[in-house]
Amino acid sequence: MQRITEINNKDKKRKLKEKIQDETIKRLYHKSEEERATAIANKSNLPYVDLSLIPVEAETVNSIQEKDAKKASLAVIYKVGKKFQIAVNDPEKYETKKLLEKIKKEEKINYNLVVVSQDSLKKAWASYNLGTITEKFEDLGVLLKKEDLTEFEKGINNIIDLKKRISEINTTEIFNIIMAGAIKTNSSDVHIEPNLDYIRLRYRVDGVLQDIVKLPKKVHRIIISRVKMLSKMKLNVSDVPQDGHFNIDLENTKINVRAAILPSSFGESVVLRILAESVTGLKLDELGLNQYYLEKIEEQIIKPTGMILTTGPTGSGKTTTLYSFIHRINQPSIKIITLENPVEYRVEGISQTEVGENTGMSFADGLKAVVRQDPDVIMVGEVRDPETAEISIQAALTGHSVFSTLHTNNAAGAIPRLLHLKVNPALIAPAINIIIAQRLIRKLCQHCKEEYVPAQETVNKIKKILSNIPKNNGIKIPNEIKVIFRSSGCSKCNFIGYSGRIGIYEMFYMTPNVEKIILKNISSSDIATAIREDGMISMKEDGILKALEGITSLEEIRRVTGEIFSKKI
Ligand SMILES: [Zn+2]
Repeated sequence: MQRITEINNKDKKRKLKEKIQDETIKRLYHKSEEERATAIANKSNLPYVDLSLIPVEAETVNSIQEKDAKKASLAVIYKVGKKFQIAVNDPEKYETKKLLEKIKKEEKINYNLVVVSQDSLKKAWASYNLGTITEKFEDLGVLLKKEDLTEFEKGINNIIDLKKRISEINTTEIFNIIMAGAIKTNSSDVHIEPNLDYIRLRYRVDGVLQDIVKLPKKVHRIIISRVKMLSKMKLNVSDVPQDGHFNIDLENTKINVRAAILPSSFGESVVLRILAESVTGLKLDELGLNQYYLEKIEEQIIKPTGMILTTGPTGSGKTTTLYSFIHRINQPSIKIITLENPVEYRVEGISQTEVGENTGMSFADGLKAVVRQDPDVIMVGEVRDPETAEISIQAALTGHSVFSTLHTNNAAGAIPRLLHLKVNPALIAPAINIIIAQRLIRKLCQHCKEEYVPAQETVNKIKKILSNIPKNNGIKIPNEIKVIFRSSGCSKCNFIGYSGRIGIYEMFYMTPNVEKIILKNISSSDIATAIREDGMISMKEDGILKALEGITSLEEIRRVTGEIFSKKI
């Protein structure tokens, strides 16, 4: 009897042990870090947030000191005045409660809480990491291969060294360092902005401004006079805006820099635009168009007549897209003329004309002259006045292929815009072949991107969005979402986590369905419904599919296209 009880007890213990192990394994393997955070959120009746999906500003996180935030396992992720949104790992944790109480009582700050995973917290805390700046500057000396810069580099071991050295070095060096850093990081612009007690240095990398370093106020005058001298501006004038340009000769290439100086309340601020001479990535199949859109475009751009419009705000890559079309169809038997303000890329074998204030010729004047040259293809930089719209439409209806751009937020918005430019509605469908809208998104750095298992809640939200994508366009929609992607930044991407850009697109062409709507009803939403029925996938959906493929992150799609999941985090 005794023996049997023992066996039974052993059996029970074994089963219990197995059960515990099962649950642990389930927790460790089947539930992700994010899933655990959702469980805590549910238990404490707080919203769950995945910080890999939303951008958090460094300045916001820095509202609380690093050591306090880390000790209390929390991060400020959003703030308006004295109202904070604070992400916590576990609202019941003693240190967390203690700091939250202090924030409310002593700092008189109101907050609401959200629950995030440990990974999310780490991501927010990355904003505290100043080491990245040193890394960026350490690279600079290597680039210019000048003895003085190499010498400069040797002394930099940490951020304090860097700050000390920056305050010690002379005029030429500080400016060289700033420019070398910009070139090294493939920046398109350098922003030097004086504040009350420091100078903020920012670079625009892949379209996004990145804080680089705070410079001591005393170098401001030095930088300004260097910029003015190089760009032949008036040295003694500081109360009006000035423009100029200069070149930097590197070992293999020449870089043209356009400089603009603007008076501001704390002194003159500087924006330097870096124009690289060579252009790459003009190939049609490298733009990031999905198979459905790529096939439609291939069909449309070889048509001898009609208009192709790309739309989007400044910097959305619409001119680059038109160039890739030109690149594709360019051959000796076709006469291509462009009208641009300014000419952005030089392309061999085509005739490019600059219009605008500098030349005294408007788009409309230029277009009238171009049509008389008997071209096959005309590229008009932008349609922004009724006269240009009218001539472009006429040219498209009379045996020319016309490529141009419009300033609208989405593809459907192009129709009301054309009507606003006094285009006859009856001419729109016959004249226009295809309308494309686009944005540029940053690609995740291939060296530091990682996959992670999202919470079921996130998966459900993504699936819901995917379920709305029209089924008649042949675009493959993933059935299962096991992982999504994020990046933590590495030396290859200058600790930004992204490198290079690609487009996200929506487009439609003139089907009888769309034509009918244009003729009888001009509301943008009716047009949107009609083009949706025809199979259009939106820029946001295109972006989400690219994120699921690991090309970019959902956070980036949110940054570029606005809210993905809900109005509020
Ligand atoms: Zn990287």
